[in-house]
Amino acid sequence: MKDFLSTLLDDLEQKAAGLPPGDWTTACRPIFPEGREVWVPNVIRTPSTSSGQDLDCGLDVALAEGLVAARNHFPPMVAALKAVRALHRPIDVFELASSCGHPPEKHTIFEASDGEWCCADSLTGRACEECSPDEGGEHHDWPCRTVLAVENAWTGDPS
Ligand SMILES: [Zn+2]
Ligand SMILES: [Zn+2]
Repeated sequence: MKDFLSTLLDDLEQKAAGLPPGDWTTACRPIFPEGREVWVPNVIRTPSTSSGQDLDCGLDVALAEGLVAARNHFPPMVAALKAVRALHRPIDVFELASSCGHPPEKHTIFEASDGEWCCADSLTGRACEECSPDEGGEHHDWPCRTVLAVENAWTGDPS
């Protein structure tokens, strides 16, 4: 089953891919790159038109700049968080073959990347591949502090 963060980021990645192409900008008129209309928050109060009248395009400048920033930075932010999540991925952790308690002919053992022989029949949990083992050789449970920090920032959970 996919975890919260992966599910969310995959969903947002799809939404980001559905946005019209090109960078958005705040301007007083729409721009049409490659013949395709790109939505531009019309906000900047032009000094004057050719007829000498001010043209108030209606939107609040701060709101428009926020929308433009969101449009332009939303896809790379999703990509950046996906890159973090891809590094901090869960790996299965198994009991050592020397301490699982199985008779030798009753289990499957394998050599883990750290050189330890493990029992494939004794899954004990999940660790973060990026955070484990740390300099002291300790394994850190997944979700690790990095993944939890991103998830909690997203959900507003202070823990
Ligand atoms: Zn981690
Ligand atoms: Zn075993």
